[in-house]
Amino acid sequence: MSLFRNAAFFKSAAELEHVPASAGEIAFAGRSNSGKSSAINALAGRRIAFVSKTPGRTRLINFYALGVERFLVDLPGYGYAKVPEAIRAPWEKLLGEYLQMRAPLRGLAVVMDVRHPLTELDRRLLGWFRPTGKPVHILLTKADKLSRAAAQKVLRRVEGEIAALGPNISVQLFSSLKNSGLEEAAAVLGTWLYASAPTPRSAGDENPRHDRGSGNKNPRAIRGNQPGAKCLKV
Ligand code: GDP
Repeated sequence: MSLFRNAAFFKSAAELEHVPASAGEIAFAGRSNSGKSSAINALAGRRIAFVSKTPGRTRLINFYALGVERFLVDLPGYGYAKVPEAIRAPWEKLLGEYLQMRAPLRGLAVVMDVRHPLTELDRRLLGWFRPTGKPVHILLTKADKLSRAAAQKVLRRVEGEIAALGPNISVQLFSSLKNSGLEEAAAVLGTWLYASAPTPRSAGDENPRHDRGSGNKNPRAIRGNQPGAKCLKV
């Protein structure tokens, strides 16, 4: 049984100061309406994440416990045009800081609608996360909306494009409606969750105080070129 089957809501955080103590976690990101909540629910085998009627409503980072101090993390969706600036700015900051500074984050699952993969915002998100050196797995969801052949064609195209982005990035087809691709996704993401923490030299300082949500933002926890949270127009 996949470890996601035990997922249970743990807490929501509107600020990094309120994130829980963690020994390892996997985050899910994606454009609003890409099918992110549905994918999380499909992996959990029941409805744990809120499936939006209004895209872009989720503004919080939601933590689902997978075991002792291990989490599946649902990040706010991006790319919803009607978000007022007053909401957008703190939301971008939260997302950016989380992705770039959260030491227990082991990797990022990016959910994309198979009919609109690798949008400008998806690419920006990837470009922004890649300097952490942590792995990315793309779920091309709603695969049931395309014929098998058409879905395979998109998969091959995306595989070709991500190969140019560097190592540690993979992609698969997924359908929450048909429950397809669940085992493959659970296998990839589950491996990350119990992988040992990256060494401080290679991918960010494991700052225990920040891991515990103390709000200690040790700058050594950020590696590489940091374009800044404003780069991602959520
Ligand atoms: P989120 O905003 O990214 O969390 O997206 P949701 O999970 O709320 O899904 C957005 C819409 O797409 C909803 O109407 C879902 O029912 C639909 N949807 C999500 N995943 C699938 C899928 O795999 N297949 C199909 N056909 N529809 C899906």
